[in-house]
Amino acid sequence: MASWQELGPGNFILATAGELLNTGLVLGSERALVIDTGCGPRQAAGILAAVREITPLPLVVVNTHAHYDHFFGNAVFAADGVREFWAHENAARTMAEHGEAQRRMLDSAHEPEMAAADGELAEIVLPTALVKDQPVLLDLGGVVATLFYLGRGHTDGDLLVGTQSTVFSGDLVEQGSHPSFEDSYPAEWADTLRQLSALRHRYEFLAPGHGKSVSDDFVKTMANTMSTAIRMAREAARETPNDATKAIPILPYGPEQSRWFMARLRQTA
Ligand SMILES: [Zn+2]
Repeated sequence: MASWQELGPGNFILATAGELLNTGLVLGSERALVIDTGCGPRQAAGILAAVREITPLPLVVVNTHAHYDHFFGNAVFAADGVREFWAHENAARTMAEHGEAQRRMLDSAHEPEMAAADGELAEIVLPTALVKDQPVLLDLGGVVATLFYLGRGHTDGDLLVGTQSTVFSGDLVEQGSHPSFEDSYPAEWADTLRQLSALRHRYEFLAPGHGKSVSDDFVKTMANTMSTAIRMAREAARETPNDATKAIPILPYGPEQSRWFMARLRQTA
């Protein structure tokens, strides 16, 4: 048996190998919603098999953002009959423009077919349905999932999914590792996290993109840490304008992510 964790009733997360991606599953009476499909056909086949242990219902897919570990498994779900793949419009654009290039980032030992673009299940299946500024309500049969956008953060297209009990945040929130800043908007991300925190009374559970489910305190701390890091980075840039990299050792994100943080803060400020 796959090790699903049930958060609210009919709301599950499944952590799968590699970077412990959380796939979400929301059950209605007529269809079920799958949130994020993994980084290729091998991981996606495992996710789909796990979904089929829980429900035989037709599926709808949401990709929370345009990073390969969240949408490279789509073709396996398309082969299962899924025709509705939702994403934010910015994420869908990035997938179309830079999806192929992301094959290079794959661990070819884990997803050799995807890395080599080998076969139908290794094709990149793009979103077919877009969320723009307004939330979209998906009726799953007696259960409504709300797809919504709170602004830029981890990327420029982070889609959230809210149900009666649970919010699935994608990589806007990550537990157990540093936030990933490669494609981020650090200053806006802190604000987006505060907006998420403002919704805390609506949801009992928060399922992050990776790691264990977290409390609102975790989100608040993440936002405050980010705001502090932004202040520190800006002070360092003022004091040593020719070498902003001097700020890196004092940032709380480890050497690699701190470098990304500084780079993205400069590019997006
Ligand atoms: Zn990501």
